[in-house]
Amino acid sequence: MKFSVARNVSPSTLYIVPTPIGNLEDITYRALSVLQSVDLIAAESVKHTGLLLQHFCIKASLFTLNIHNEVSGSLVLLSKLQLGYSIALVSRAGTPVISDPGYRLVYCCVQKKIRVIPLPGACAAVTALSASGLLSDRFCYDGFLPSKRILRLERLRFLSEESRTLIFYESTHRLIDSLEDILNIFGSDRHVVLARELTKFWESIYGAPVKKLLNWLQRDIIRCRGEIVLVVEGYKCNKYKKLTPNILYTLELLISKLPVKIAISLMTKIYNVRRNDLYDYVVSKTNRL
Ligand code: SAM
Repeated sequence: MKFSVARNVSPSTLYIVPTPIGNLEDITYRALSVLQSVDLIAAESVKHTGLLLQHFCIKASLFTLNIHNEVSGSLVLLSKLQLGYSIALVSRAGTPVISDPGYRLVYCCVQKKIRVIPLPGACAAVTALSASGLLSDRFCYDGFLPSKRILRLERLRFLSEESRTLIFYESTHRLIDSLEDILNIFGSDRHVVLARELTKFWESIYGAPVKKLLNWLQRDIIRCRGEIVLVVEGYKCNKYKKLTPNILYTLELLISKLPVKIAISLMTKIYNVRRNDLYDYVVSKTNRL
């Protein structure tokens, strides 16, 4: 593969260099050229980046910058940048800083007026969104959902009325739990696209209302394996216009402990909602069960 070998980087500059999320052919010519030309590469994993560089026959000096040394490592790199070094920042895969180390280094550079040059390239969130078939003119990237259930539910409740398309990163072993929580908070009809192993041999993209998606996964647990992005349809006002997910959550909580009549009466006092709308909702839900 040919790419420019001329030294085309500037001194005292930090380059943000995305790397492939699976398929090595997704590296850009410019990324290779920068990686070959800089004085130092700050890598999340020296081993992982070493293999990538070896694949493209690039020799470079590497420095580890990961979650364990992000503060001290960023200060070391900052001083090198101030001395005139050109540095490339890379993560294991995809765009550095996006749910990956690097934010502190970039922040320090911006504060100290050191030039930061971002290269465009692979990012799992945007790759998944582009093929999801969900609205993409506005979206909300929310990284990984919390691993603790109580915090995850809190986060989902906070996002339950977000009308933009939502994007989450998820891990294999938490996928089912997270989807069950999405179902409970967002409702069983919310459309979710599961984008798995993007750009790789086993790539699959499957979208369905969350309840159906869960059934599909439970039929073949292999469908949970690999690297995963969830793209979730944004909140759409339902026909009971004022019954937002938070109101419905409280309603269901009250109904689970109290007679329907008392629960509805309390609801009209807590929220500014019509008694009839609440009754209609309860009846339609009961009919669906
Ligand atoms: N900075 C990276 C980016 O730009 O996408 C993300 C890093 S984050 C630590 C890793 C997570 O990204 C994975 O757990 C998964 O959720 C998602 N991811 C990375 N590669 C992926 C792929 N090929 N297919 C699906 N999801 C992927």
